[in-house]
Amino acid sequence: MNDQLKALEATARQLEPANEERNALAATVLQYANNFIDNIEQTPAYEPYDATADPFPGMPIVDEGKPVGELLQFIGEHVDGVGLNPASGGHLGYIPGGGIFGAALGDLLADVSNRYAGIFVPGPGAVRMENYLLSWMANMVGYPATAAGNLASGGSIANLIAIVTARDRNGLEPANYNNAVVYLTEQRHHCVDKALRIAGLGNCHVRDVPMDANYRLQAEALQRMVDEDRAAGRNPWLVVGNAGSTDTGAVDPLHAIGTIAKAEGLWFHIDAAYGGFFMLTEHGKELMRGIELSDSIAMDPHKGLFLPYGLGAVLVKDARALFDSHHYSANYIQNDSEGGHLSPADLSPELTKHFRGMRLWLPLQLHGLKPFVAALEEKLLLARYFRERLLQVPGYVVGPAPDLSVVIYRFVPKAGNDTEANVAIAQSVSKDGRVFISYTTIDGVLWLRLAVLAFRTHQREVDILLEQLRAV
Ligand SMILES: *Cc1c(COP(=O)(O)O)cnc(C)c1O
Repeated sequence: MNDQLKALEATARQLEPANEERNALAATVLQYANNFIDNIEQTPAYEPYDATADPFPGMPIVDEGKPVGELLQFIGEHVDGVGLNPASGGHLGYIPGGGIFGAALGDLLADVSNRYAGIFVPGPGAVRMENYLLSWMANMVGYPATAAGNLASGGSIANLIAIVTARDRNGLEPANYNNAVVYLTEQRHHCVDKALRIAGLGNCHVRDVPMDANYRLQAEALQRMVDEDRAAGRNPWLVVGNAGSTDTGAVDPLHAIGTIAKAEGLWFHIDAAYGGFFMLTEHGKELMRGIELSDSIAMDPHKGLFLPYGLGAVLVKDARALFDSHHYSANYIQNDSEGGHLSPADLSPELTKHFRGMRLWLPLQLHGLKPFVAALEEKLLLARYFRERLLQVPGYVVGPAPDLSVVIYRFVPKAGNDTEANVAIAQSVSKDGRVFISYTTIDGVLWLRLAVLAFRTHQREVDILLEQLRAV
């Protein structure tokens, strides 16, 4: 048995490269990462690809390992070289993502030490770090110390956690789900509908509250609809406001909605996945007045704080409600600590999870807030700059002045099909590849969108787009 153990150990130890080998591996990977960053302005924001040819079977997983250089070459070609490049400053479509370097270093640290961030007792430092980040965000939105939250994988899960909490806190039971009424606008993100369905509420009444010309919810219409539903014996339960809608960047009148929600006993959830961190700017604070009246908020550091994908946050004003919906105890878990520390596992569907806090805490501490705030202010200004410049280009119609950093616009051809012309513009911009734009349909009309949120987007990228739109 001894010989067998020795032989197995010798092979298993290949999983722990020695110091010298680690250095060599890390240097090679770091060189790849640095090349990626150093060349990002020359790299297309979008690379067309062949959807029918799958290269992965060509790099099969087999018994023996391969040299890292060979693997990086494969990644460069077949992962980083195809499709949308979300790290590019030229990414002006959808809601752009981030990828700041400090977050990658945070992930490296979190992955190497692999601290347990699910439960306080084994991982007090990791859990305290995440709870501290959440209380920092809660403070930013004006929530009291009774608030709690969770660092989730993204905005969809953050919204789901909030909706499940709202469902339970309002005592909804399956028998009365189809009498419950949710109020939102057509501008909501589809993940809200998805969350309702996952939460069992796919058959509840969903009211599309009318919007004003800026795609913001009309508060008087909300009040009227709630009154009508009550008179008809239905159960008004939840209102979801946008703090930065995906399509247009619209921010609903949060104060007015919050006032109605309070008077009517509705749970007020705000989807601030895109717009939430504009609260760090004066403009955002002013625009989102009333955000503190909500019961829960979803906001995405992997959008507004320029982090790589994989970090959303949910905040719930009443920590107890969040806990009651998500906690569980089990014989094999020891989580009795002094001080009543909240554990992520009691506040989300997850147990074991990535220690996500480190990728946020490290860059915030390394850089301080100043460059984050400047970048957010720059994005707001770039959106206004784009709109003002495009207004001077003949042939284009521009949507309302942006609340945040999304601008909708479209080309109106003298003859021919409107929709086709605009899709063709988006395609020709993508084909050029220096910048990437997307489009959406609102009230049956196709609009092109500019969404500025990548930390690498500066005036240069917006000027490239303007030049292309002029050339059409
Ligand atoms: C991006 C977005 C979401 C979804 O968040 P993910 O992180 O992609 O899951 C939800 N709501 C809004 C307003 C968004 O912009």
